[in-house]
Amino acid sequence: MPFKTIIEPFKIKSVEPIAISTEAERTAYLEKANYNPFRLQSDQVMIDLLTDSGTSAMSSRQWAAIMEGDEAYAGSNSWKRMESVIKDLTGFTFVLPTHQGRAAERIIYGLLGGKGKTFISNTHFDTTRANIEFTGAEAIDAPIKEGVEPTSTHPFKGNLDVDRLEKIILEKKPENIGAVILTVTNNSSGGQPVSMENAEAVSRICRKHQVIFILDCCRIAENSYFIKHREKAYRNTGYKEIAKKMFSLADGAVMSAKKDGLVNMGGFLAVSDKKIAETCKNLLIITEGYTTYGGLSGRDMEAIAVGLEEVFEADYLEYRIKSTSFLGERLHRMNIPVVYPIGGHAVYIDARAFYPHIPVEQYPGQSLVCELYLKGGIRSVETGSVMFGKYDHSGKLIPASMELVRLAIPRRVYTQSHIEYVIEVFEALLAEKQQVPGYRITKEAPLLRHFTAHFEPVTQ
Ligand SMILES: *Cc1c(COP(=O)(O)O)cnc(C)c1O
Repeated sequence: MPFKTIIEPFKIKSVEPIAISTEAERTAYLEKANYNPFRLQSDQVMIDLLTDSGTSAMSSRQWAAIMEGDEAYAGSNSWKRMESVIKDLTGFTFVLPTHQGRAAERIIYGLLGGKGKTFISNTHFDTTRANIEFTGAEAIDAPIKEGVEPTSTHPFKGNLDVDRLEKIILEKKPENIGAVILTVTNNSSGGQPVSMENAEAVSRICRKHQVIFILDCCRIAENSYFIKHREKAYRNTGYKEIAKKMFSLADGAVMSAKKDGLVNMGGFLAVSDKKIAETCKNLLIITEGYTTYGGLSGRDMEAIAVGLEEVFEADYLEYRIKSTSFLGERLHRMNIPVVYPIGGHAVYIDARAFYPHIPVEQYPGQSLVCELYLKGGIRSVETGSVMFGKYDHSGKLIPASMELVRLAIPRRVYTQSHIEYVIEVFEALLAEKQQVPGYRITKEAPLLRHFTAHFEPVTQ
């Protein structure tokens, strides 16, 4: 188009009201939620940027497909449609439906993991790490060094450090490697893309040492957009063809369809190895359901089949990536320390740089999350030391590599004016930076503590 305004390539058919609240109301809500926005009710939130997971608006085509849902226990036609879309996209022979991504992870990493095993990834997503560590295995993150530098402008900051990968494989011995997992885009490290060149190098090393290579393909369409526009060799290749090429490099894939599946629930596991597939199918039946529904309704499977096609449409991807970067670029211009370049599904703020007066032990990311909610009713999530921090033997915090706050953008949900509002709230936060307190944790669970932890402000 000759104009610079990117319009949403859809119009609204059905609307959902937003409950408008006051700062005084939100102060009470947040205290009651123990300063953890995961514990807020959704009607206490005005703009919900907690996650892009399962929060997509479905299209009229998806809603129409839902009426075609075949709820047969075995041999559902809806499963046939979902399976055929996934087989066409991934090229893998065996596809297992799951109710969400972590169910696929539990099955495959439960099989490949166990005590003495090591997994290596560009960055393990939190549920990925939890499922691996739960089996007794260890999970090593090996992102390229630019990936953990908030100001680096490397075009593929999601890449895996291939030299380190090979070193770890040799040090641990190939037979002790559970799998190498490439997460595209790299959710936990700024939503940054992975290049095809990097995926090819990872594949080559895995094949050389006969190590299993799994693609965590939650955001493979968004990643394909970045490859087309940043990696010269793919300038004239279609988005879906780019995704297919990347799948061809791996031995299997796990997907949370709640992301680039454009649905509210669902996932899958796909593999090329028959023996692995058969064992996984048995595990699937025990906890998820029979192999032709795996915890999904027929109607869910119809919506996934349509969503996985819509997500590769050029107009959709253009709008998706450009509208995310619109928010990021505007914040960047206001000197808010955003992770640069802007990723696909979210804008990440470096909270440590935003609140330099708050020590890491007092979780500056949690401070920013609480301020965004108090001032503007915006819900975001900390992806720093609350989510990824550990303790050493003496109980001292081993912080995460970065103290980030994620503003995840639900797909096809918010309009330009919602985003303009978010930008205005940030202007207010900039003006009051100095008075903001840090937080301490008063209650936490041993795994995935960020979901349920209680906090309180640290007042000197
Ligand atoms: C969301 C996500 C998962 C887990 O999927 P769920 O559907 O939430 O269980 C795994 N990996 C990545 C990269 C994700 O973003």
